[in-house]
Amino acid sequence: MKAFKSDLHIHTCLSPCAELEMSPLAVVNIALNRGIDIIAVTDHNSAENVSAAQKAADGTTLTVLAGMEIASSEEAHILAFFDHAEDIIKLQDIIYENLLPGENDEKMFGEQIVVNEKDEVLDFNKKLLIGATMLPAQEIISTIHSLGGLAAASHIDKDAFSIISQLGFISDDLEFDALEMSPNTARAEAEQAFEMYKSFAWISSSDSHFPDDIGKRTTIFHMNEPTIKEMSLAFQNIDGREVVWE
Ligand SMILES: [Zn+2]
Ligand SMILES: [Zn+2]
Repeated sequence: MKAFKSDLHIHTCLSPCAELEMSPLAVVNIALNRGIDIIAVTDHNSAENVSAAQKAADGTTLTVLAGMEIASSEEAHILAFFDHAEDIIKLQDIIYENLLPGENDEKMFGEQIVVNEKDEVLDFNKKLLIGATMLPAQEIISTIHSLGGLAAASHIDKDAFSIISQLGFISDDLEFDALEMSPNTARAEAEQAFEMYKSFAWISSSDSHFPDDIGKRTTIFHMNEPTIKEMSLAFQNIDGREVVWE
């Protein structure tokens, strides 16, 4: 079994709130420089920069998971993780059908840039990606699972856009595979504040919008290989696999 240093929450220049320097290629190079083994590209309500990041990491030691950070109808953020870009495009189709109507206001929110693995601009996404979807959290989680992915509740320690800030608590019908803490909360604080959620696996990630933040918080996965299947087993502590962060 190996230890995989992972940062599973990174936005690229497709997220209107992320820095333009966060191109898929730049994110991959920074992650490699910082000794990270697994990242997930998790843009708001879109996965259009995932395949560029995966191509940029091709032949390196870095695994790029196909991710997305989805805003539920309750405005709770939920992370989705898949192995392959093809899998997350199926999820993206469903999310796009359920986005609130409207166009991105580039002046107010920022540009949403689709880039290839060589840093060439392919498109400016005009959808309202920063807004919520019309899908309740429970439906998002079950959709992610039906497509073979893993679902984590984003930054549950934050007082906005988290499942706890929006719903008050995590009800039993929400079958998250993991809960995420932001870098603002230390392990000891999390143990105190979220003791009632200890039956869930916990991860912590950077939620990077800027290059400096990549790898600011990481989670170590002890498992056999950097795949969704192994991560799922690690979340359940099966056969010595485990998930650790401090
Ligand atoms: Zn978020
Ligand atoms: Zn985020």
